[in-house]
Amino acid sequence: MRITCPFCGERDLREFTCRGAAVERPAPGAGEAAWDAYLHLRDNPAGPSREYWQHTGGCRAWLVVSRDTLSHAVAGCRPASGHRRGGRP
Ligand SMILES: [Zn+2]
Repeated sequence: MRITCPFCGERDLREFTCRGAAVERPAPGAGEAAWDAYLHLRDNPAGPSREYWQHTGGCRAWLVVSRDTLSHAVAGCRPASGHRRGGRP
């Protein structure tokens, strides 16, 4: 699998670390149920998904990678929201 980092170009999967599903964080005042779902409940999609990946073997940028979990085809890669190189999204 190859991922095209927006800063470094196309690289091998081994340079990246998957950091989990790219889901929206609840607002600070969201209720306990919203935070419980955010922290503990995840879909396990068979098909298109969006995940946080970090280019740990390169620029250390946090990225949102759109890929198909069945075919591993990467449909896109962009910097995570609020991105700073090496910083968390
Ligand atoms: Zn990079």
